[in-house]
Amino acid sequence: MRLDDFDPNINVEDQRGQGGGGFGFGGGGGGGLLFGLLPMVFSRFGCGGVVILLIALAVFGGLGSLGGGGSGVRTSAPSEQSARHGTDTKSSCTIDAASKVACNAFSSADKTWAAIFQQSGERFVAPKLVFYSGSGQSGCGAAQSAMGPFYCPQDQGVYLDTSFFDELGNRFGAKGDFAQDYVIAHEFGHHIQNLLGTSAKVAQAERSGSEAEGNRMSVRLELQADCYAGVWAAQNRDRLDPGDIQEGMTAAYAIGDDTLQKQAQGRVVPDSFTHGTSAQRQHWLQTGLDSGDPARCDTFSGAI
Ligand SMILES: [Zn+2]
Repeated sequence: MRLDDFDPNINVEDQRGQGGGGFGFGGGGGGGLLFGLLPMVFSRFGCGGVVILLIALAVFGGLGSLGGGGSGVRTSAPSEQSARHGTDTKSSCTIDAASKVACNAFSSADKTWAAIFQQSGERFVAPKLVFYSGSGQSGCGAAQSAMGPFYCPQDQGVYLDTSFFDELGNRFGAKGDFAQDYVIAHEFGHHIQNLLGTSAKVAQAERSGSEAEGNRMSVRLELQADCYAGVWAAQNRDRLDPGDIQEGMTAAYAIGDDTLQKQAQGRVVPDSFTHGTSAQRQHWLQTGLDSGDPARCDTFSGAI
């Protein structure tokens, strides 16, 4: 996709180089968490769920590198942290090629959605893009790269360890810049859902229902974020290269719940789906791409 260089006024926060580097998940954690565990947890429990998850990790896995002793959870080491925050956008976005791709896609999504909101008379608030490496801190608790990219509604941040882009290409066969753009656009879609109050409604419904119902709501929320990603791309259709849409479809296929489960455990458990099947993810990305209209992204009424 031939995107403009990022607008230097986008909100970027850089937590890299803070001595993170990860705290083991005991080996098994990474698989199947793509786009990942955190968005699912956020949407189902709000941040509370993340804190619970982190406490579980602290107890069972150890969160040692995150902070000196104490609870180990959300110890933010404020002085060290604030020194790094506010690093200027330009240097953070040009550290490497992956950062630049992320910033360009984020910046484009920012512009596109601001215009869509303006047209419909809704108030747009820009989110922030947060880079971290290995482990980081978010308004929803600790970030860990094995969780995959995620959006935290509490601080309106899209959190990205750019090593995920390598994983997307090498492990999941979803190569190309548009596959990466889709990741950013999907997370940006969660921000749109947050602004429109959709995520809050879903979280409420999830709290009051069974786990299986909660998962079904999560799937609808995730598919809508895929559709919103397609809407963004459609609104920038003149910038698409031949092959971009195929790259997006390959990525959407690779991160479908059924495909991931088949790879990880050799079988598929539909009740446990949180993001939708490969076919559903492709379908909703395509719906956004075909229409360019967020109103067509109603994944909540009717069949998906
Ligand atoms: Zn998501």
